[in-house]
Amino acid sequence: MKLAALGEVMVELAPQAAAQAGEQGKALLRQSYAGDTYNTAVYIARHGVSVSYVTLLGDDPYSEEVLTRLGDEGIDTSAIARLSGRCPGLYMIQNTPDGERYFTYWRGEAPARELFADPQRREVLKAHLRQMDCLYLSGITLAIMAADARAELLDFLKEYRAAGGRVAFDSNYRPRLWRSVGDAREVVATFMSVTDMALLTFEDEQALWGDDVVDQCVQRNSDHGLSELVIKRGAEPVLLHCEGQQAEVDVPAVAQVVDTTGAGDSFNAGYLAARLQGASPVESIASGNRCAAQVIGYRGAIIPQAEFVAGAQPVAC
Ligand code: ADP
Repeated sequence: MKLAALGEVMVELAPQAAAQAGEQGKALLRQSYAGDTYNTAVYIARHGVSVSYVTLLGDDPYSEEVLTRLGDEGIDTSAIARLSGRCPGLYMIQNTPDGERYFTYWRGEAPARELFADPQRREVLKAHLRQMDCLYLSGITLAIMAADARAELLDFLKEYRAAGGRVAFDSNYRPRLWRSVGDAREVVATFMSVTDMALLTFEDEQALWGDDVVDQCVQRNSDHGLSELVIKRGAEPVLLHCEGQQAEVDVPAVAQVVDTTGAGDSFNAGYLAARLQGASPVESIASGNRCAAQVIGYRGAIIPQAEFVAGAQPVAC
């Protein structure tokens, strides 16, 4: 089984320790790399599933280091295009004492915004994607793309699914990346119609659609013909709707939540890796919870390779 994840990887600056009250932004910063689909790609690869990461990078030292990191994770970088004179976007994390996080971005000119835009590169990329069993993308992938490129991607996904490929999608709603909430709704709904496995976070769905209760989220998404709908709700049980079957899977308590950055992304990785390795949706949710439990015990989106154990049980409170 081989999966390709499409999206953007950025330079990440994360505080090394929680800033004291009144000292916001003054903590020492650790520099790393992250981005929602990149995070998922890394953790899927750490579960032993073959992954290709698809993005555009520049020709600067940071882009070079991203390629090195992906290579160190065993991720295929052959579909990554480089644009001369460009460099990746940047974001900073601020944490609250209870581990919640706030992000500030500098990503307006990132090369990843040109995904699927150039006709020649697009044909080469399509040939690469046709070799995959599963494609993974998010609302962020769609938000940063040009409208024409998005339409091309949509047509390609229809063809890809007709040929037997599966599409996994997380709406990951970030209001500032969209022109309007109406735009975001229209695009997300369109791409949900070419999705097999939707891995949504209820908080994002509430922000995007104004849901009061989770049933509204389930109702709306049941029209899309999904084979699997998974709804993450932080420490609350994960909901599964799968071919008429429903389940709630408890989230194990985590001893110390340090930073929830990458929680949803790493959950998706644990879920997709398990699904691609033949586990049931319920078993795959447990795998997603185990993966996320490790990641939220560390600062930043990507925890050190040596500390990560695929399938590890979380340390209970
Ligand atoms: P997102 O990062 O997209 O906001 P969530 O906050 O819903 O996603 O979290 C995704 C997953 O991370 C949850 O399903 C759970 O497995 C894990 N998780 C998040 N917060 C906690 C927490 N406080 N305690 C235990 N697990 C958590």
